[in-house]
Amino acid sequence: MYSAALTERNVDCQTGCLVDRFGRVHRNLRVSVTDRCNIRCFYCMPLENVQFRPRDEILSFEEIERFVRIVARLGIRKIRLTGGEPLVRQDIDRLVGRLVQVPGVEDIALTTNGILLSEQAGRLKQAGLHRLNISLDTLSEERFEKISRRAGLQRVLDGIAAAQEAGFERIRLNAVAIRHLTEDDIVPLVDFARRRGLEMRFIEFMPLDGEQHWQGTQVLSGSEIRSRVEAAFGPLIPAPRKDPSQPAVDFDFADGRGRIGLINPVTEPFCGDCDRLRLTAEGQVRNCLFSLEEWDARALLRNGESNEQIAELVRSCVEAKRVGHGIDSDQFVRPERAMYQLGG
Ligand code: SAM
Repeated sequence: MYSAALTERNVDCQTGCLVDRFGRVHRNLRVSVTDRCNIRCFYCMPLENVQFRPRDEILSFEEIERFVRIVARLGIRKIRLTGGEPLVRQDIDRLVGRLVQVPGVEDIALTTNGILLSEQAGRLKQAGLHRLNISLDTLSEERFEKISRRAGLQRVLDGIAAAQEAGFERIRLNAVAIRHLTEDDIVPLVDFARRRGLEMRFIEFMPLDGEQHWQGTQVLSGSEIRSRVEAAFGPLIPAPRKDPSQPAVDFDFADGRGRIGLINPVTEPFCGDCDRLRLTAEGQVRNCLFSLEEWDARALLRNGESNEQIAELVRSCVEAKRVGHGIDSDQFVRPERAMYQLGG
């Protein structure tokens, strides 16, 4: 399966592609631009005593751009900016403006909680950002505060409207689905997305919460979500899978009004098609959210090492990638770092 994937994909890198031991060609880089956030979602961050990295440990825009230029020569084509909350990083649109000019980069997306989006949507669009994912777990202010431990639902809704006004298309809304908490949000969220011309996606809760309270019983599975959506809106039709490496399984509504995506990393892992690498805010390269190892690109970036040495570090990281995250195995060990420290 893996070697077939290798030959089928267009291998066009200038200096050797990032292919791992299982034939997965890496095209996708998630860049965390900060570990800071303006909300405190329980599935991601601790509420108290959050240890943020000192600012001088965080990569500068120049360092991020250099890293992206190097990996673009190795075949990375898609960049997603994330965090923490990427919009709390000052002048993030300037980074977007730099990255859109990198030869080889075809797609730049950003994942945000939407709180600061009304102020920044226009600037991001102008800077050349291609796509936006906005996190929205619920339309109930009460549940929003229970999950994010801050107020702010209306600001997120205003942010979504501003992004649409700014001209962003194909905006996706991401909801983390939590059993015994967000079941009642599924139908209203889908209805909201269909009415606004947005694509709703549900993500299974992964063991990456800062307080380390995750339990398997809290996972509200994609298959259950699908049943609930079908009960309310009629049959869902599997959508053609244009990009096998995309994490979501997409479905179209039979009435032709919209699409939803289910991201099921816990009940239906999609590691076999994973083409993602991550750069943390402080410059560590990771080959998996659940990796227990990191490769220190910042040390090379700051010690005057050559582009080739940095490329070699990234190749080593890809070479070491495991076949899967192993959440479902008895030997699974969760990483010490939580989602906000990794870049979701
Ligand atoms: N602050 C931005 C946001 O909220 O979209 C970007 C970073 S956030 C870590 C990226 C995505 O990861 C969000 O959609 C968030 O809901 C999701 N996420 C965070 N912790 C998660 C977890 N434990 N399991 C599944 N998804 C999670």
